[in-house]
Amino acid sequence: MPKAQETVLEIDLIALKHNFEYLKSKLQNNTKFLAVVKAFGYGSDACEIASYLQTLGADYFAVAYINEGVALRKSGITKPILVLHPQAVNLKTLITYSLEPSLYNAKILKEFISIASVEKQKDYPIHIKFNTGLNRLGFWENDVDHIVSEINKTDAVKVTSIFSHLAASEDLNEKEFTLGQIKNFNTISKNLIDKLTYRPMLHMCNTSGILNYPEAHFDMVRGGIGLYGFGNSDKENKNLIPIATLKTIISQIHNIEKGESVGYNRAFKSNSFLKTATLPIGHADGIGRQYGNGKGFVTINGQKAPIVGNVCMDMIMVNITNIECKEGDEAIIFGQDNTAEQLAKTTNTISYELITFVSQRVKRLFLK
Ligand SMILES: *Cc1c(COP(=O)(O)O)cnc(C)c1O
Repeated sequence: MPKAQETVLEIDLIALKHNFEYLKSKLQNNTKFLAVVKAFGYGSDACEIASYLQTLGADYFAVAYINEGVALRKSGITKPILVLHPQAVNLKTLITYSLEPSLYNAKILKEFISIASVEKQKDYPIHIKFNTGLNRLGFWENDVDHIVSEINKTDAVKVTSIFSHLAASEDLNEKEFTLGQIKNFNTISKNLIDKLTYRPMLHMCNTSGILNYPEAHFDMVRGGIGLYGFGNSDKENKNLIPIATLKTIISQIHNIEKGESVGYNRAFKSNSFLKTATLPIGHADGIGRQYGNGKGFVTINGQKAPIVGNVCMDMIMVNITNIECKEGDEAIIFGQDNTAEQLAKTTNTISYELITFVSQRVKRLFLK
């Protein structure tokens, strides 16, 4: 890996290939793989990730919002793209870019059918989302008759898939609840399929669902965090490789005498001599203020350097008192050894949050 000369997020596409192949190895041969690339590919780069996964054979992509799907189309993604949470205001754009909506309540179903009809669409692919216990988005079991009656009134749309989302697939203490969701989904989807003249695909599993509930893989799975290298358990983390390394360099080293303070609000006051390194990365780059004052740390020459004082917008200062290092040396915020999950834990959050926080200001570099 090249040594950092500024703050960069390195994306290891070889690791991405490994993760994709590992998740695929858990599937039956005919189960499709939908790669979730929302939120800039979990903070990396949605277009690069999707392009590479498209060449590796991903069958489908998903994003949260319509504008994310538009960006993928503009970068040359030709596979189907599911938009998980479309809003009525952009549905015409969704059709222009051949994106496929998740329809989750009577309002958005009606609005989409109306726009698809005005746009003279025929059999436009739609995905019907059911709530089976997450209580976030989705039709209820007793909405099936309404859905069927709306769909039968038009030939503008065709149900490509029926899906649901698990609430606690990573938590085996919640196995009974999860099995209940799966049972629920089986009942609802059978009921809907019985009332259609064709059979849509079924899908339910996110990464932890893929790993923990093979009986719920159905026709397709939706892998997100696993592609980026996190398996939501110590056991599965060992089988995956984090694809993103956030690194920077030491801009300046300071000697801080006993009684001096470091940073804004004088949040840190030294009671002995220390050495600090100032790094060009701050909360505007994705290192939240909650990591300040000794909670979070970076790694310099293999050793932990805790953050001293408050996190600034563009900088942090770290304690290097006992670390051999000089101005220009590299500092790793998270990567394959010191993972985003470990750093996230220092502030009681999860890898998902830390990796999606890396802001667009940070340059992305791709290792192929
Ligand atoms: C984000 C998301 C996923 C991916 O979940 P991971 O835990 O990252 O694998 C799958 N399905 C839906 C509906 C999502 O919102």
